[in-house]
Order: sequence, then C-alpha cells, then structure tokens
Amino acid sequence: MTTHSHAILNMALLSKRGKPFLNAYAFIGAVLPDLPIFVFFIIESIIRKTPGHELWGSLYFTESWQNFFDIFNSVPFILILLGIGYYLLNSERVTVFAWSLLIHCAFDFLTHHDDGHHHFFPLSDYVFESPVSYWDRNHYAGIVAPIERVVFLIASIYLYGRLKTRLARWGLIAVNVLFIASYLLFFFFL
Ligand SMILES: [Zn+2]
Repeated sequence: MTTHSHAILNMALLSKRGKPFLNAYAFIGAVLPDLPIFVFFIIESIIRKTPGHELWGSLYFTESWQNFFDIFNSVPFILILLGIGYYLLNSERVTVFAWSLLIHCAFDFLTHHDDGHHHFFPLSDYVFESPVSYWDRNHYAGIVAPIERVVFLIASIYLYGRLKTRLARWGLIAVNVLFIASYLLFFFFL
C-alpha cells in the first residue's frame, strides 16, 4: 500500500480519544517500514545516478538491499518490540508504535503480488503472493487502487476530529487533495 495510506489508516485505527500524543507514534510506526525504500532511492538514484530501469528492475531485488528493507518489515522483530513495550516497559507509546508497524505489515501482506517483503525475516524466506496488488493493473490494481482512495478518504474524515493542532488538520487536508487529484489525473489522462 502507499505510504500515505499507511499513515492515515494506522493513525485512524490507533488514535485514542483524549490522547492526541499517541498519533505521532502511530504515524512513525506507519511510515518507518517504507523509509528504507526512500533511502535506497536517494542513494542509488540521486547519489549514484543509477538509471531507473536498473534501479527497480534488478538493484531493488539484490540480497543486500532486500535484507535492509526486510529488517523494517520483519514480523518477528516487531513482535519482540511489542512484547518489550507492553510487558517490560509498560509503555503505551512503544506499544502503539509496534502495533502500527505490525498493521503496516498486515496491509502490505494483502496488497503485494510479486514484490512483497520476507515477512518472517530472518527466520524464513517465505513471501506471500497476494492475488491482488495496490499498483499492478495485471493484478486487480484497477479495482484495489480506487478502493484504497475511498478508504483513505473515510479514514481521513474520522481522523480529522481526533487531530488537535491546526498544522495536523491542514496537513491531512493537503495530503487528501494531492492523493485524490493525482489519482484522477492518472486515471483520466494516462
Ligand atoms: Zn510497506
């Protein structure tokens, strides 16, 4: 799923009335598993100037980069963190953060066809091939992508009331306009 969908959905699912400080932890947990991909893009594309087809066609799938991505998408590591947060530290912040990481992995599990992560890294190389993809039109993205936008909009409306600062509310509106407008442009003109 797209990074902004992870952010909005996880915050909507994990927000608690009267505890707006938890939103930040849900947000960080939602985007962290995708950050290594941005690091990959910055290093390979902007610094090393690797051409695009090589970047996503072969380099992305090399073992060293895959391991780097998998560390942040590893269910065993996240469960350890969840256990530490809940039982040892008794910290609501760490627990919400770990839950957000886990929910990210669950949504990705369902929406990646042949580009999923090794969910159980480093214990196993197993990758689930979902029958649907959030971006690949050969695997129902034509249906999944509009559903993702509708869910995104509903989650945003719900979340709006739970955000306390004006900056967060304007950020939420801006990301909705950009996300839905970019989809409509893509849909009508490409
Ligand atoms: Zn992801």
